[in-house]
Amino acid sequence: MMKLVPTIGLEIHAELMTASKVFCSCSAEFGGSPNSRCCPGCSGFPGTLPVLNKRAVELIIKAGKVMNCEINRLTSWDKKNYFYPDLPRAYQISQLNAPVCVNGNVELGDTTVRIKQIHLEEDAGKLIHDQSPKYSLADYNRSGMALIEIVTEPDIHTADEACRFVEKVRAMLLYADVCDGRMEQGSLRCDVNISLAPEGQPLGVRAEVKNLNSLRSITRAIEYEISRQTQAITNNIPLVQETRRFNDASGETFAMRTKENAHDYRYFPDPDIPVLKLTDADLDAIYATIPEMPELRYERYRNEMGISEHNAKIIINDKNVCNFFEGVLKEYGENPKSVCNFIVNELRNDVSQFYAADIGRLVKYLNADKIDRKYVGDILNKLSRKKNEKNTDNDYLEKNCIEESFWIKEDLDLVENIIAGVIKNNPGPVEQYKSGEQKVFGFLMGQASKALKGAATPAVIKETLERKLK
Ligand code: ZN
Ligand code: MN
Repeated sequence: MMKLVPTIGLEIHAELMTASKVFCSCSAEFGGSPNSRCCPGCSGFPGTLPVLNKRAVELIIKAGKVMNCEINRLTSWDKKNYFYPDLPRAYQISQLNAPVCVNGNVELGDTTVRIKQIHLEEDAGKLIHDQSPKYSLADYNRSGMALIEIVTEPDIHTADEACRFVEKVRAMLLYADVCDGRMEQGSLRCDVNISLAPEGQPLGVRAEVKNLNSLRSITRAIEYEISRQTQAITNNIPLVQETRRFNDASGETFAMRTKENAHDYRYFPDPDIPVLKLTDADLDAIYATIPEMPELRYERYRNEMGISEHNAKIIINDKNVCNFFEGVLKEYGENPKSVCNFIVNELRNDVSQFYAADIGRLVKYLNADKIDRKYVGDILNKLSRKKNEKNTDNDYLEKNCIEESFWIKEDLDLVENIIAGVIKNNPGPVEQYKSGEQKVFGFLMGQASKALKGAATPAVIKETLERKLK
């Protein structure tokens, strides 16, 4: 039995986080009542002209940069002609001849996925099909939204690799503020091209499974296609190049249409949009806005800050939590590990209710044994109220959150007396310590702490005990 190897290429469509659509000034916000966010331009009225959204160009360049692409200094748009009711102009403005980004790559552990190109295009509208009575509704709110399409070379061979690639790209787009990555809302969706062939043989006949909007459906669609195509090949049933759709309920793919090629779309340059010239200075200004990518942050947290794998993953997993963590470190950077623990254990990653600077100073006080840990809950309640009221008072924590009783007060006379008592009552261990047995110090520390019942910080107890033992 010959071994069949799957070869997979992905096309990821990601909606850009622009305020307005890509070729008109309509709002690009998700949702809205049907057809409330469109104009003659994005509804395809004859005579309207597209005006390119500068922000969309900036965002696709950021996407290209984080995926190590070359950026074309001259870039242009093409008309991709086809008729469908969700595309009122009967052509999509897309890029074929000179896409913004080409020849990139994304590292995936021990393999590299090459990026063929990333191009900037417009999204189509949305059709809502009603079954009883039978009719379809067209909502053009999504029509003309700025979309990038990331096209890989066929460098992927398993469902697991495909998912890791999508996850990594999604995280990079999120961190770079290019796309919100909400797969369930369709702002990031994936087409899978897959074929099977015996090892070392030319690629087989491919199927393209359209519009997968979760990692789970990507996995299931790939697994289904592997088994369907394996059966066909082993039973000598010819496969046809076609576009297929995945049915979430049955877990199966089914044929939608036989696959068209680029020439079927009669692509031609869109004369309505001037060729865009990009200079080095333009690109450098855009590159400068790209923050550190999650993978590099992870390495830094693990290697430089000594944060555990578990906690580093939790922090990285959510961009808002990660940026909050960085914000806290700006206020209090001495002990990143304790800050991370505090965010994971005390805030349980729910960072939206707090100002980072407040949390920084709170952790600093706790680490210095200035305030008693048992009051953390009370203090956090007050700090979240502060953020709620949009109060930006810098001393709010000290003035309003930490009550007199929260501060650890040290009655130094009491400390001296109690430690003197501990030394008097433990002549044996004291002798051992004096004759060089350092480890009994821990025992004496324990006795002193117990007797003081939290009335002094460990630092003060240690200092007093050491002094008195001399
Ligand atoms: Zn519009
Ligand atoms: Mn596309």
